[in-house]
Amino acid sequence: MVDYSCSVCGEKWRTQQNENYYDRPLDALLDTGSKWTDIIGNGSEPHFTIVSQRVLEIWESEDIGKFPAFSVAILPPYKKMKEPPLMYYRLDYKKMEGAELDFDESGFINLKYCNVCQHYSYDWLQSDRMANAKITPYVLKEETWNGANIFRPQYPVGYMFCTEKVVDCAFKHKLTNFRFVPCEIGEGVGFSGADYSTKNWRKKLEKQIEEFRKNFRPVDPETGYYIQ
Ligand SMILES: [Zn+2]
Repeated sequence: MVDYSCSVCGEKWRTQQNENYYDRPLDALLDTGSKWTDIIGNGSEPHFTIVSQRVLEIWESEDIGKFPAFSVAILPPYKKMKEPPLMYYRLDYKKMEGAELDFDESGFINLKYCNVCQHYSYDWLQSDRMANAKITPYVLKEETWNGANIFRPQYPVGYMFCTEKVVDCAFKHKLTNFRFVPCEIGEGVGFSGADYSTKNWRKKLEKQIEEFRKNFRPVDPETGYYIQ
């Protein structure tokens, strides 16, 4: 562990975590699932975007884009798997920045963000988004978007954003395990993701969003409990 103090915001880190996490190939252990999927989720922070080699090739051939990536070694044992692992790659997070999040429009109150060490703080009791008082979208500053089909804003850390073209591509090539959450419902906690198994996924998604809004239970910012 190396103590590290950010020269810009003064935040102290136990390690230089950005440097360690983002700049190298990765070993991964699989703890669930019985099929090799085209994208592998990791529940911890930061959320790496790990995709199969096939996905990178399809994205390139379909003009989605060619993205910088590191190789990922999937470590044995793969108890439930009959086949050896696919070749996997992690998108190079540092090089994927392509738009700025509009913090005000996205419901953050008093958010302070350090571009150097990525430390952030906000008044979460006041923020609609963080208190889950209502469904709050992620809003990007349109003029800052670099036009990439897959990119990340400076915040939230670890989230990848994409255009509809990427969802169409996942449908066309029957890519597995992707979870696409529309920006209009923010994190979409509990949202299963757009059903891109059908060509009419847009229409279906509208219904999914409607359903999500209907079943959404806000949290009382005062108590932290769900409002019934
Ligand atoms: Zn900092």
